[in-house]
Amino acid sequence: MSEQDCLFCKILEGVIPADIVYESDTAVAFRDVNPQAPTHVLVIPRKHIPTINALRAEDEQIVGSLYLAAQEIAQQEGIAEYGYRAVMNCNAGAGQTVFHLHLHVLGGRALSWPPG
Ligand code: AMP
Repeated sequence: MSEQDCLFCKILEGVIPADIVYESDTAVAFRDVNPQAPTHVLVIPRKHIPTINALRAEDEQIVGSLYLAAQEIAQQEGIAEYGYRAVMNCNAGAGQTVFHLHLHVLGGRALSWPPG
């Protein structure tokens, strides 16, 4: 399931290149092109879901798979024990710029709270 003008669907289709670090049946992860931390990976569902607000009950396992991917990526990147952040922005007011669900996995430095 893909959307014609969706940047992340194009990455899934291989039309736009990305540094892919993880793949499963339901999720793909690649390095953010504008990293905000030494590790900054985006985990996306293969299914085109624009925002958290568009999630349906049937997407429950897909969302779970994004967090399991984050866990595995954090191990691969060596940031799991120190700590990392796995966050999703929802809509423009929270800073969402790409409307295909994605989990930011950030780590490799101390992360302050609250975020800006
Ligand atoms: P958000 O602002 O939460 O929607 O996050 C979108 C993220 O996608 C930003 O951190 C961008 O740096 C990142 N991004 C945009 N285009 C690409 C791309 N072609 N490859 C990898 N990451 C990208």
